[in-house]
Amino acid sequence: MLAARAAKSFQGSFTMPARWIQAGRAAGARRPLMSMLPLLLAVALGGGGAQRAVAGAPLQKTQAPGWYRMMLGEFEVTALSDGTAPFRIHDLFTHIAPTQIDADLAQAYLKEPVEFSVNAFLINTGSKLVLIDTGAGTIFGPSGGHLLTNLEAAGYHPEQVDEIYITHMHGDHIGGLTRNGQALFPRANVHCAQTEADYWLSDAQMQKAPADKREGFKTAMTAFKPYIDSKRYQPFRGNVDLLPGIKAVAAAGHTPGHTVYWVTSRTETLVAWGDLMHVAAVQFPDPTAVMKFDADAAAAIAERQKIFAEVAAHRDFVAGAHLSFPGIGHLRTDAPRTTKGGSAAPTSYTYVPIAYGVPQ
Ligand SMILES: [Zn+2]
Repeated sequence: MLAARAAKSFQGSFTMPARWIQAGRAAGARRPLMSMLPLLLAVALGGGGAQRAVAGAPLQKTQAPGWYRMMLGEFEVTALSDGTAPFRIHDLFTHIAPTQIDADLAQAYLKEPVEFSVNAFLINTGSKLVLIDTGAGTIFGPSGGHLLTNLEAAGYHPEQVDEIYITHMHGDHIGGLTRNGQALFPRANVHCAQTEADYWLSDAQMQKAPADKREGFKTAMTAFKPYIDSKRYQPFRGNVDLLPGIKAVAAAGHTPGHTVYWVTSRTETLVAWGDLMHVAAVQFPDPTAVMKFDADAAAAIAERQKIFAEVAAHRDFVAGAHLSFPGIGHLRTDAPRTTKGGSAAPTSYTYVPIAYGVPQ
């Protein structure tokens, strides 16, 4: 999709000057240079002819290819955009007053609906190519499902991916595994916490769930099927080192087996935290604000507070699935914001997005 759009915009930006060049050549052939002086002066001084041409250029309405690269020690990290989707967050939050959400959005120059990024992260360790999450596939319609286009734009191919680590089995993280029943990553082994699989890949759990929640189970079963069938689905239990420098750590709350991946090379660490949080403007100032998608609110709050404190203290990079693309930055600990009731407020954080740079 993005490739098609990019091709269209490239063509669009190319035909217009070509037409001007043709017109200029024709005029030049008919008239000697001196007779064209008034026209040339008018163009140089921003006269009517030039203004009309600029105003006629069509809006492009496309974005740059969605990948961003950085080095983490000796590892190369590529953030990949799967797309963005708008959400009305007033409808999605609990444990926070709507007026506070209003204030948080105003503070961040945002308004409803808030555009959510859907990000995945590719780690090249030098010996293995690892993809953390796979985006939404077709679940968000045309606003999502751009992961493979951006993977290719970033210089990689799906058949080069050795390992896929899934943070949890919600559709916007696993939708990119499979299309029309076919595995989109033909060589990759797919890893996920056993506790997550015990829930989402279980017929018994699906039958226990309310009818309107069953679609999520079917999405997970469909996404994993070709990998299970080809014995490339490899769940893990507990906190484990999956590769030298990449450790899976349980962070249940958002889902039963939600997992955070700690990626370390030399002295640098990046914490790919999946859906530990969703809306930066709301949950960094107040990590106790809960997104309705968090299955266990108390556990989600506890994990959020614990991991926020840890990455801030150690100055680790964070990589969020729904932080604004590229979704990589740092957290700084702030003083708790004041509460009107005088009760103890949770520690606040400020998110500092990564500074743009070309990896050396
Ligand atoms: Zn998500």
